Amino acid sequence: MALNEEVILRRYAAAAEAAHAELTELDQLSGDGDFGDNLRNGLRDAVRAYEKSGGSALRVLGEVFLDEVGGTSGPLLGLLFTEIARAHEKQGTDPAAAWAAGTAAGLAAIQRVGEAEVGDRTLVDALAPAVEALRRGGQSAFAAAAEAAGAGAARTAEMRARMGRASYVGDRAKGAPDPGALGVAVLFWVVATVAD
Ligand code: ADP
Ligand code: MG
Ligand code: MG
Repeated sequence: MALNEEVILRRYAAAAEAAHAELTELDQLSGDGDFGDNLRNGLRDAVRAYEKSGGSALRVLGEVFLDEVGGTSGPLLGLLFTEIARAHEKQGTDPAAAWAAGTAAGLAAIQRVGEAEVGDRTLVDALAPAVEALRRGGQSAFAAAAEAAGAGAARTAEMRARMGRASYVGDRAKGAPDPGALGVAVLFWVVATVAD
């Protein structure tokens, strides 16, 4: 059975509320300080839009981030959520396969638009290892993806940014992880709690 999209959306929204202060602080170190707002407010808006319209919660999530959320992360995460929603609609039966396909397509779209590679200190550093873990599949694919995304986000603390605003601040953010990578790691953590 496909994972429950509504539960994913609601838990991700709750997790973004809880992580708001930390994400804000991290984006203050390396960027302009709005990432916590972008993620939390986008998820709040998505929950509201979903409660009004129903349908696919992930589809609504993708649309809200593509159309309404600002910052670099808004449209990039919108691409990711939309590809995951599309894969959910297509495959249905095996959730890990659907998520492997959706996150891989999302990663490709994000890299096409944003041109970041692994190691550039962006959300790609959390997303790419999670995609790999889902591709390997197996019984605890979601737990492995969550762990891989978390480890990938943690590694950004030692990276120097080459993309986005963080590239302007040089080594100032060294020692602290990239907020976007952490925001993506939170998604995979949430999904693992829904899948188990
Ligand atoms: P902005 O810099 O426009 O304020 P946000 O604060 O919404 O953007 O998002 C910042 C996050 O966006 C960063 O932490 C990083 O993970 C991600 N990011 C920045 N540039 C890129 C890129 N080219 N590709 C992928 N992710 C990126
Ligand atoms: Mg920002
Ligand atoms: Mg901004």
